Amino acid sequence: MSNRTPLIAGNWKMNAGGQDGLDLAKAVAGAAAKASVTVVVSPPSISLGAVAKIAEAQGGQLGVAAQNIHEKESGAFTGEISAGMAKGTGAGWTLVGHSERRQYFGESDEQVGLKVAAALQAALRPIACIGETLEEREANQTLEVCCRQVDAFSEQLKADPGHVVIAYEPVWAIGTGKVATPEQAQEVHAGIRAHLAKTVGEDVAAKTLILYGGSVKPANAAELLSCADIDGALVGGASLKAESFIGIIEAV
Ligand code: PEP
Repeated sequence: MSNRTPLIAGNWKMNAGGQDGLDLAKAVAGAAAKASVTVVVSPPSISLGAVAKIAEAQGGQLGVAAQNIHEKESGAFTGEISAGMAKGTGAGWTLVGHSERRQYFGESDEQVGLKVAAALQAALRPIACIGETLEEREANQTLEVCCRQVDAFSEQLKADPGHVVIAYEPVWAIGTGKVATPEQAQEVHAGIRAHLAKTVGEDVAAKTLILYGGSVKPANAAELLSCADIDGALVGGASLKAESFIGIIEAV
């Protein structure tokens, strides 16, 4: 057993941006107050402030994350928000480099590294997402791809051990219902941790939370999280309903 406190994070993506999200946040904040794991929700940026207020009013046990930040502090970047702006809403976390950002918005490894640095600079805890596509898995490149993506923010992992969270999300398992088996996930998590031990040191490797993401549900969460190197989950679809997200928190 590691002494890393598990983290369950819900990524709402471009959903639940109105009253539905506020109701969901209230229900999850109630469950977070009773949980022995860290719980974070990631609403669309338009409701970050309102969700952060709900979290605060319910005792501050629920963490709030932006889904994305820009790497620059300010400037002519229409439609973007900076890490400092996200922090100003009351959020304490941010996702970075989600595969949908990489796939649809062309985010590069280098940009993800800059975003992780920008988050830390603004005192936000980054949850940096990595993961291989189906083609890469079939070409036996899974670990090579994941390690390359991790190397883009290894300086930041070293600068503040345990502060940056990694989310391993095989792209083929996101929103597809195809979950990696606990053995497949544990193999990659252990490989990433071994790579961290080699590149940034044993201490950082032991302190870094590595979450699994990809079709996590109440029915498969406990088994995935019982693996030695799986420290929590990043949940998409199942985080949009209080019952299923709380079911995952309780299963852990
Ligand atoms: C995600 O988008 O981060 C995710 C893991 O989605 P889902 O749980 O729906 O596969």
